[in-house]
Amino acid sequence: MASKSKQPPHFLLIPLMAQGHLIPMADLAKLLAENGARVSLITTPQNASRINSLLSHPNQSQIQILHLQFPSHQQSGFPQGCENFDSLPSLSLLPKFLSATALFCRATEDLFQQLSPRPSCVVSDMALPWTIKVAHKFNVPRLVFYSLSSLYLLGMANLRATGVIDKIMSASDSERIVIPNLPDKVELTKPQFICTLDAGFMEWANEMGKADQASYGVIVNSFDGLEPKYLEELKKAIGSEKVWCVGPVSLCNKDTTDKAIRGNKAALDEHECLKWLDRQQPGSVVYAALGSLCNLIAAQIIELGLALEALNRPFIWVIRQTEATNNELEKWLSESGFEERTKERGLVVRGWAPQLLILSHPAAGAFVTHCGWNSTIEGITAGVPMVAWPLFADQIFNEKLIVQLLKVGVSVGMEKSVMWGSEEEIGVQVKMEGIRGAIEKVMDGDGNKEMRRRVRDLAERAKAAMEEGGSSHLNLKLLIEDIMHEAEARESHK
Ligand code: UDP
Repeated sequence: MASKSKQPPHFLLIPLMAQGHLIPMADLAKLLAENGARVSLITTPQNASRINSLLSHPNQSQIQILHLQFPSHQQSGFPQGCENFDSLPSLSLLPKFLSATALFCRATEDLFQQLSPRPSCVVSDMALPWTIKVAHKFNVPRLVFYSLSSLYLLGMANLRATGVIDKIMSASDSERIVIPNLPDKVELTKPQFICTLDAGFMEWANEMGKADQASYGVIVNSFDGLEPKYLEELKKAIGSEKVWCVGPVSLCNKDTTDKAIRGNKAALDEHECLKWLDRQQPGSVVYAALGSLCNLIAAQIIELGLALEALNRPFIWVIRQTEATNNELEKWLSESGFEERTKERGLVVRGWAPQLLILSHPAAGAFVTHCGWNSTIEGITAGVPMVAWPLFADQIFNEKLIVQLLKVGVSVGMEKSVMWGSEEEIGVQVKMEGIRGAIEKVMDGDGNKEMRRRVRDLAERAKAAMEEGGSSHLNLKLLIEDIMHEAEARESHK
């Protein structure tokens, strides 16, 4: 018994197969291992290949990646190789993909059974409600991992608790809906909200809610000083003090290589990228990247390119490679002469960019972002002000956080979510002039100095939180201790 209690706790991590979920979970694995825990992470071989850098981490002996095969085409309905959100032919398949993940439940239980030492807890992505069954079966605590803002989590919890969520569907498109019981007045409209109300997603979200309520605690990729009022209210809404803010987890990537090899293989060589950035003035580069699931149509993406050209400033423009837009965009890029005209000051990245490396370089001056939570917190951590261009789901709330609450960015002016599967119908929402104007405001507008000061201040606080003795560092230690004691307590009750 005594020798058992000295063992470090063993965290079993189960990420969702989507870059915005897999990447922060891999960072969490590193942080747990650095702080003495043992970590096993379960995913499919294809997804594992995207986070293999974990296995060259200095604490690699404490980390293992366990493989589970993606369910067959007959079982899941997805063709071979379609194992991540970013390989789906259409985002309208997201709810179906989420349902397919439940097919992993049995195989996960089998793996759990074989693990030695036995996991002390399950850390599940919030979008995998079936993991509560695994935790219950083996009588270990389930922790939910959120790489989401407290504003979003609290906003959604309040919308559900007050029933306002059910009224949104019958609201008119122009009605401004106040998110109930928040510390500040935050309003949204139905067209901005619509993705979150997708029927298939709502059903899954109900399952997520039930599993989260039955869970032991919550791990958040954020830091105590970022949205303190929202975090306090969130703890009350969850009804538990077992909420650990341990981020920004991206700060575990300290050296250039760690920053460069995060996620997919970059389409831009890290040395070339650094050489190019070194040639630019501090704070001069506009970095435009709309995440791993950008579903804008080619005509809208072209407006962004035209705005970058019209700005006459250095830029890095990341274009996600998708079947839906590639041909049209490539045709435009080659026929319009865009790259030739901008080659002295612009870099076009087709595919994956080393985002952390770029944002953390002193040349980064503005970040045109889709407001995915990871990108948002990475922008804040780098002290780079943002142009908020939300596409769907929580990104709409994060835009409010960036622009209205933290005042570290300006809005590009998206009035509707880019509904999954209705991209063509939604069409072009923001034109070149509007995009250019928003970027100019961040780079040069009135109040730009204050915005920059605020975001740099937050960046300092983020770094302090992750340092020895900082709040996130302390929270991580407390989390590991808590799980160790809980495992001992459950063991002694057997
Ligand atoms: N990312 C990257 N290079 C890219 C696109 C994305 O490194 O070209 C990373 C980014 O740094 C972030 C994650 O992928 O960590 C995307 O997560 P986020 O929540 O921002 O958005 P999502 O892709 O889930 O919409």
